[in-house]
Amino acid sequence: LVSRKKQKENTVVTLGPVEVGGGDPVLVSGPCSVESYEQVRQIGETLKANGLTLLRGGAFKPRTSPYDFQGLGEEGLKILRQVADEFGLKVVSEIVTPTDIEMATQYVDVIQIGARNMQNFELLKAAGRVNTPVLLKRGLSATIEEFIHAAEYIVSGGNSQVMLCERGIRTYEKATRNTLDISAVPILKQETHLPVFVDVTHSTGRRDILLPTAKAALAVGADGVMIEVHPDPDVALSDAKQQINIPQFNEFVAKLRESGLYK
Ligand code: PEP
Ligand code: MN
Repeated sequence: LVSRKKQKENTVVTLGPVEVGGGDPVLVSGPCSVESYEQVRQIGETLKANGLTLLRGGAFKPRTSPYDFQGLGEEGLKILRQVADEFGLKVVSEIVTPTDIEMATQYVDVIQIGARNMQNFELLKAAGRVNTPVLLKRGLSATIEEFIHAAEYIVSGGNSQVMLCERGIRTYEKATRNTLDISAVPILKQETHLPVFVDVTHSTGRRDILLPTAKAALAVGADGVMIEVHPDPDVALSDAKQQINIPQFNEFVAKLRESGLYK
């Protein structure tokens, strides 16, 4: 169902004023984790000031260590909804449990399925049973074929509003947190009709190359870029090393616009 052979026209996912996959690239930005109302409010204000619509933030965090911050759960989703409504934004947030999908639809505009859950088939099926758009991230070690099959699970379950996100894969390279598979973008665009994002934060894990990788993503046809921004990254409860602060984010957006690749 997700194949280009089945459907020639691009799938377009409408989120308020933005049309993902409609030609003009979009940004999805916000903190790694939702930590407090005040933290998210500052980011909401920043997005609004930059003319952006899509606010991300993790409320259910799939952390590598059980001793790390696990997220605020439903309370975090409420904070995102409140801030989004205040600033006219749309919420993108990760859900990790199949039985939470229904609950999440009350608060989020896009259900994110994270890299660690790309092949959590019960979660994919649960996401297929709702009408809320889904942003599916590529698994840490998933092939493009496996990634496409995961999307097929959601669409075959009845939810056609699926967006894909390349977020870097595991390789031997240590200079970046993951290896951004830039070629996945044109391949996914050719093989499927779904919108394709590139997450520059989790793929690189490096603040110094966010702008060039975002430009590369848009140059090869990505429909959007995901980037993490935090009011005070040094004290962030997750991904403290790779999030950028608000002035750095403002500069990132301005430079991306200057490049002409992003409106
Ligand atoms: C995230 O986007 O919050 C996240 C955890 O990313 P990933 O699933 O790609 O690691
Ligand atoms: Mn993160």
